[in-house]
Amino acid sequence: MIPVKGYAAQDPQTDLAPWNFERREVGPYDVQFEILFCGVCHSDLHQIKNDWFPGIFPMVPGHEIVGRVTKVGDHVKNFKVGDLAGTGCMVDSCQVCENCKKDLEQYCLDGGSTQTYNSYERDGKTPTYGGYSNTIVVREEFVLHISDKLDLAATAPLLCAGITTYSPLRHWKVARATNWLF
Ligand SMILES: [Zn+2]
Ligand SMILES: [Zn+2]
Repeated sequence: MIPVKGYAAQDPQTDLAPWNFERREVGPYDVQFEILFCGVCHSDLHQIKNDWFPGIFPMVPGHEIVGRVTKVGDHVKNFKVGDLAGTGCMVDSCQVCENCKKDLEQYCLDGGSTQTYNSYERDGKTPTYGGYSNTIVVREEFVLHISDKLDLAATAPLLCAGITTYSPLRHWKVARATNWLF
């Protein structure tokens, strides 16, 4: 197991505080990266306070994560050590159901997708822990390349707040319409 330092809420009544925990070793399809920046999303606050549903505690929030790759599994094709990488709110899914095959992993039919934290790994019992920590292990399909031309601190919020607005704009093909006003 990999030792990790993070900030966790031990229960819904306490503030975040330093907490040491462990992540899984890097598997054949996993990317490990050192976390350089993590955005603070309001969903993090809702989840540590149990506003939506009873959470899994201790809870390490954070799902707008940017960092630099430190290790890759033997079967990882698209990342190498030293690459910049990012991860949003999802870290795994079954990969084989109808929805996963259509790049709709958020609708995975096999028990849903695995969220970055406040969720369970595919084994259904190991809690996931988020980006308020110094390193993370994520299946390659859920890791994004980040350009070194970007301001990394400003890039982190794109992984949730950014994609949440960009995705529907793109899906519905929103474009500038010159005839809307006249
Ligand atoms: Zn699936
Ligand atoms: Zn968010």
